[in-house]
Amino acid sequence: MSKSVDFQREIRRWLEQNCPGGARGVGQIPFGSRSIELEPEVRLWLERMADRGWTVPTWAKKYGGAGLSNDEYKTLINELKRINARTPLTGRGVNYIGPTILEFGTEDQKTRWLPQIARGDGGWAMGYSEPGAGSDLASLTTRAVKNGDHYIINGRKIWTSDAMDCDYIFVLVRTSPDKPRHEGISMMLVDMSQPGVRVSPIKLISGESPFCETLFEDAIVCADDVIGGLDRGWTVGKRLLQFERSTHAGINISGSQGGRTESSKLPALIRKYVGVTDGQLTDASIRTRLARHEMDTHAQQITQRRVIAELHSHAPGFTSSAVKLTNADNVQDGDELLIAAMGNQGLRWADENSEEQVVAGTKRWLYQKSLTIAGGTREVQLNIIAKRVLGLPD
Ligand SMILES: Cc1cc2nc3c(=O)[nH]c(=O)nc-3n(C[C@H](O)[C@H](O)[C@H](O)COP(=O)(O)OP(=O)(O)OC[C@H]3O[C@@H](n4cnc5c(N)ncnc54)[C@H](O)[C@@H]3O)c2cc1C
Repeated sequence: MSKSVDFQREIRRWLEQNCPGGARGVGQIPFGSRSIELEPEVRLWLERMADRGWTVPTWAKKYGGAGLSNDEYKTLINELKRINARTPLTGRGVNYIGPTILEFGTEDQKTRWLPQIARGDGGWAMGYSEPGAGSDLASLTTRAVKNGDHYIINGRKIWTSDAMDCDYIFVLVRTSPDKPRHEGISMMLVDMSQPGVRVSPIKLISGESPFCETLFEDAIVCADDVIGGLDRGWTVGKRLLQFERSTHAGINISGSQGGRTESSKLPALIRKYVGVTDGQLTDASIRTRLARHEMDTHAQQITQRRVIAELHSHAPGFTSSAVKLTNADNVQDGDELLIAAMGNQGLRWADENSEEQVVAGTKRWLYQKSLTIAGGTREVQLNIIAKRVLGLPD
């Protein structure tokens, strides 16, 4: 029997015996936060998968992974899908900063940080945007000043998602204000459980509060925790953005799968709201829009494969911008379509007589508007595609 068949059988047996019922189907997925309580079976699944190195299957064993080859990794993903298992761990640790440390970190940084990230010990926030620096990120002003064996950080980051539940934050800070602006930036890893880091939630139109403002007031960071070298943060930070955009595009480096159940549920939901006559959706315009949406979804999935192939060679490229944008457009189009099919019901908000699913659909429609802003706006992605993919002049 071939080695790959043996491998598949071993994985299948192990997963069937070790994936608890509470970690299958839709449900809680950890992102490492120490302050969010995990359901017992979700915690058990995380611990078991981390013990095998399968929260980050392709990372080397010494960094908390399993050292799987690309083919073995695909086998594992297929077997997880087969039993409808949720990913044991997601978030900015395994998906953004982990791969960045893997690529740019020193051996000491990799040994100190990666096994902890692979175990899901600590949730990570992202400190890029500032009140005066969003698309034009290089204008950031948060300062880090060397003081012996550490840096002292002062400044303000905004839109830091999930920061109130995070334990660490990776930040882009200005370390050499006299250099040209792209050359004086560094990336640092900051422990958020110190008095110098203050987090305040920002409330959104959807009624939720996943965003924060994060203030640094003489926050301290160890000089060993500058990733990729002093003043090299622009290069490091851009690469991290490519990892982020791949994740926004629905591709999870840590190997998670699923999560896009909404799009697969769409045709059934639309049938429910619009009705069916002679086997066809009753409303002809919705029917046409749904057919177009389904074709776009299929095209999107094919484009995703290209980015997955890039990720397997450990170098997410500029196609991550294209697939991030088309994914956002596709998700927003699906939400618009659902709201159109729901008619008046689609505009209900907090009506106590409304079905929970109806209100959830409306909130989701509003929240997903952020997909063409988060991780770089639509216009910024189009600029990157024009310059880096199509080679058009500035
Ligand atoms: C859901 C969500 C989560 C986020 N999470 C985080 C996070 O965790 N950490 C973090 O650091 N940030 C986060 N952000 C912030 C996000 O990265 C910024 O909102 C984004 O980069 C845009 O910056 P801005 O809001 O300052 O808008 P601006 O940069 O002020 O842009 C305003 C408008 O001008 C357009 N524009 C700007 N420059 C150009 C140009 N050169 N060409 C054409 N048009 C242009 C933009 O496209 C946009 O329409 C998040 C945002 C959202 C919506």
